[in-house]
Amino acid sequence: MSRDFSYKIAQSLQDTMMHTALSRASLYFDLSRTWAFADLPNKDALKRRARQIKEFSIEHLDELIAQLRESVIRHGGHFYLAPTAQTANDYVLKLVRARNVKKAVKSKSMVTEEIELNKHLESAGVEVIETDLGERIIQLAGERPFHITGPAIHKPREAVGKLFAEKLGVPYTNDPYELTKIARASLRQSYLEADLGITGANFAVAQTGTFLVITNEGNARLTMTLPKVHVIITGIEKIVPTLADALVLLKLLPRSATGQKLTSYVSLVTPTSPPAPPRHGEGSLPPSLLGKGARGLGHDREVHVIVVDNGRSRMRADAQFREALYCIRCGSCMNICPAFRSVGGHVYAGQTYMGVIGAIWTAFVDHNGQGDLARARELASLCMTCGLCAQECPVQIDLPWRNAQLLSRANEHLGRTPTDRLKSFAYRKLLPNRKRLARAVRAWQLGARVGLPKIVHAILTRTDEDLAHGIEIVQSHQFAQKFLHERLAELLAHNPQGAQHRVGYFVSCGMDLLYPSAGAATIKILQHNGCAVRCAEKHICCGAPAFYYGDELAAKNLARLNIEILEKLDADVIISDEATCSGFVKSYPKLLKDDPTYAQRAEKLSQRIRELSEFLSQIELNPFQPLSEIVTYHAPCHLVRTQKLGEKPLELLRKIPGLQIRELEKSDHCCGGAGTYSTIHHKISLKILEDELERLKATGAQTLMTPCSACMIQHQYGCRRQNLGIQTVHLSELLARAWGIV
Ligand code: SF4
Ligand code: SF4
Repeated sequence: MSRDFSYKIAQSLQDTMMHTALSRASLYFDLSRTWAFADLPNKDALKRRARQIKEFSIEHLDELIAQLRESVIRHGGHFYLAPTAQTANDYVLKLVRARNVKKAVKSKSMVTEEIELNKHLESAGVEVIETDLGERIIQLAGERPFHITGPAIHKPREAVGKLFAEKLGVPYTNDPYELTKIARASLRQSYLEADLGITGANFAVAQTGTFLVITNEGNARLTMTLPKVHVIITGIEKIVPTLADALVLLKLLPRSATGQKLTSYVSLVTPTSPPAPPRHGEGSLPPSLLGKGARGLGHDREVHVIVVDNGRSRMRADAQFREALYCIRCGSCMNICPAFRSVGGHVYAGQTYMGVIGAIWTAFVDHNGQGDLARARELASLCMTCGLCAQECPVQIDLPWRNAQLLSRANEHLGRTPTDRLKSFAYRKLLPNRKRLARAVRAWQLGARVGLPKIVHAILTRTDEDLAHGIEIVQSHQFAQKFLHERLAELLAHNPQGAQHRVGYFVSCGMDLLYPSAGAATIKILQHNGCAVRCAEKHICCGAPAFYYGDELAAKNLARLNIEILEKLDADVIISDEATCSGFVKSYPKLLKDDPTYAQRAEKLSQRIRELSEFLSQIELNPFQPLSEIVTYHAPCHLVRTQKLGEKPLELLRKIPGLQIRELEKSDHCCGGAGTYSTIHHKISLKILEDELERLKATGAQTLMTPCSACMIQHQYGCRRQNLGIQTVHLSELLARAWGIV
């Protein structure tokens, strides 16, 4: 991670004004999105339909580009397919020179940000006025957009008032109504003076040559109609076959973006004048239009359509990242993202697109369509794979999965950082061999007796602050004297006679080495409820840490080993009490889909694996004894989103007489633990943890239950740091107490 990037993260975490504005905006987005989707009877079916439209469009992109070109020219517009950012800019520059353009108005368009059109126009002596209020604010402030749909959401109205007073010479006000009036008055004259209007397009309809542009301010309509020349610039991925397809996507876009059922303005533009000129070669302007006095020929208006490739074709040809082209730029993945909410959009400064989707796009479109993998890796490192974004995405892009693959791709191509090399050593050498891993932990424990972790921590504080923080967390954890795998024989000897179920138990690294009593409780409660439990001969990591933190090769290796080991386990189902492990084993078919030897076997294993609470909800249970405790529940990301089982542990708790369950606000949001995230971005991890602890305190609970060792470590660490006196337990420990088998 570059110093500049770390510095920006640190700065943004301290930017209280930005956080105030961002939390107001986030709250608004959360509430309005829920409201806007409430009247859609089958949101998921609509999302699936939207996804199909995008899949079809990208699959048939070459035909659709040709069809759009035909449609645009047929109606009298000009069409140019720009291979790169540079060629798109060159086309516009030729046009402005030919038309002697001095002033241009522009409505919001991310593609023009991507190709840095303003910079090019300004260097050619053209004054460019942004007409979207948010864009105008950041233009006056000399900044880049903070967010793809809310470019100025980081600026509270007080800051906007000061900016307007300084740049527009108006009296200071922080009244939003007055501020909008000032912006409107200052823009009105520009529309009348401009020789050129530039808009983007949310969707381009190949069949009719129609472009859909949505706004809330009506500025795009003025931009495209008042100046004589209108340039539409959009990406090739915005093309869809028919208007009906565009309207399906339109049902989702404003709902996901701003929480509106529809934006105030939806403009459908089909370039219709002047009469169709003869076809011309792509990349050059038609001589009739470049000639002197073209307007004098009676062509009152002209429309130029530029569709930009700039790396998109490479993305399309890439099986792993093709689906990033399905993005409809709603921005909801950013609105919901805990990392984005912590650091904001300017940490991505210099990049046009933000969040995970922005990381992928950076890898392809930056540097004139060549991509910037190094920068993309930094952006991807911000993701803690919580899956909130994928849940919101209207076109169902598997964002955390793609993010992990991007990290792996970057690590393979660019080489690993020293910290990543250390982690890969663990993924490849320690995690496939539990005994070796256990020896490493024992060595750590021995070292701890002579203060070794403190020395390592002190050295790392100077070289890798994030890794040092990881050491601090591990150092504060009390490892068990006896690991779970060392107790298995004794525990399994208590299998009930005449058991109703033959179940396997997946011994995760977390339960084995960090929380053996929770693992033991799992075995005991299964036995207590009529299960004969058996374990595999070997126990290894499921592969999730390796995969999500950028070593796909190691993850695949671990997945194959697990398949081989667990295939031999004589059990009907295999139970895991680690939400991450059960979630990841269920994802093996996706991980190994191209592996002819393992794809089917992965599928079979994924059908045998059960998360603990999922399994307990499927069998008849013994009655619980009363438990007098006040408990709250944190739902691990990989339980709620990867497996959609977030309610299952709660259903079990509700059966325990006397147990008081207090609801934890945002109980399904990431706690910032995310495996080893704190060794990558410890300041972000801490910020998220602190927010979680505030909510936890508000519950008044004595006990926090969460069925995931990474979440347990994070919460225990946080509670210790703040001296909260709240104990963190695993579901199995709480259930064991309620069954009186501790
Ligand atoms: S998975 Fe979570 S942390 Fe990662 S981008 Fe999505 S919302 Fe953000
Ligand atoms: S990735 Fe999905 S959620 Fe994010 S901006 Fe694109 S469409 Fe919206």
